Parts: sequence; C-alpha cells; structure tokens
Amino acid sequence: MKIICIGRNYAEHAKEMKSEVPTEPVFFMKPDTALLKDSEPFYYPDFTKDLHHEIEIVIKINKVGKHIDEQFAHKYYDEIGLGIDFTARDLQAQCKAKGLPWEKAKAFDASAPIGKFVSKSSLGNLDDISFELKINGESRQVGNTKDLLFSFDKVIAYVSKFVTLKVGDLIYTGTPEGVGPVAIGDKLQGYIKGDLFLEFEVK
Ligand code: MG
Repeated sequence: MKIICIGRNYAEHAKEMKSEVPTEPVFFMKPDTALLKDSEPFYYPDFTKDLHHEIEIVIKINKVGKHIDEQFAHKYYDEIGLGIDFTARDLQAQCKAKGLPWEKAKAFDASAPIGKFVSKSSLGNLDDISFELKINGESRQVGNTKDLLFSFDKVIAYVSKFVTLKVGDLIYTGTPEGVGPVAIGDKLQGYIKGDLFLEFEVK
C-alpha cells in the first residue's frame, strides 16, 4: 500500500506556512514503512530538532481506480480515520530553500501515525466533520472538513489522473492551521466529532 498526502488543503494552514493557497491539489507520498499503528509509541528521531504535528482526516481506498471521475469518487472509499503527518520542519525548510524534494522531512519511518477507522456513513455529512488534536490534554489543532480547499472526491479525481489508487491505500487529506512542535514525553490524542480515534506517546 501507499500513503498519499495532500499539502496546503486548508487556506489558514497555507497562510501560517507563508505558502500560496493552491489552485489545484498538492500531493506527495510516504512509503508503508511510515505507518505507526496500534498506539505504538513514536520515537523522536535524531535528525530533527523541530518535529511538527499535522492532524489530518484520512480516507482508505477500497477499490482499484485510475482516472476516477469526481462524481464517482465516493465509491472508492468507505472508511475514514485520523492520522498525523509528522514533519521535520527544519529539514523541510532546508529542502524548500534548495528546491529539493521533501521526502526526508516527511516520509521517514513512523511519520504517519494512524488510528482507528469507521464507516463514512457513521460520520454523516462528510463536508462537516470536526476534528481535533490534543497534546497532554490541551487543544492544539481544531479543524473541520467544511474548510477543505479540495474535497475528498476532488482529491481522488485529481490524484488518480497521475497515480493508480489501490485497495488499502491511505489518503491524508491535509492539516488545518495550528501546526507546531512536539517534544519527548508528549501524549497526543486525536478526536473526530469528540470521539477518540488516535492516541500515542512521543518517547
Ligand atoms: Mg500534512
């Protein structure tokens, strides 16, 4: 499986990164070795001094597809979960400055913690899903899919023009504003509509 991540999909996050608000989806990938499951601890890597959290709604692909039309995109996923797109912000800034790819800042081992999935029908209107990241019990990021620049269906249509989607692929759909550093000892908890979906510790 592969992990596809959408960048700058919330205007307020693009602004806080001093990036342009995109006119078409921006995506990059992480390998399957980036997954961190089952509330396993995350070990702070020694190659960064500025590791940032990005809480994101994640959709799970359930059907192979290429050139998927937006109007049929909803048939290609039926489960939704919550994940973190960990980013070594210092390395990413160096890559950006040199015009280099971001992989070492984004695709490293355990950079994609993932929590439980539920059927999308249990979440009601997909254009109004509230979600939140708490660290040590304090709210750090609050988002709602109503603020997405590109909906889940638009993202699937766009990405599948370039990359065949396969069963089990995950799409991290972008982070809202409020990204910031994590530290050793932090306990991260992610919520969708007030329900706990994701929980782990930084060690
Ligand atoms: Mg992200």
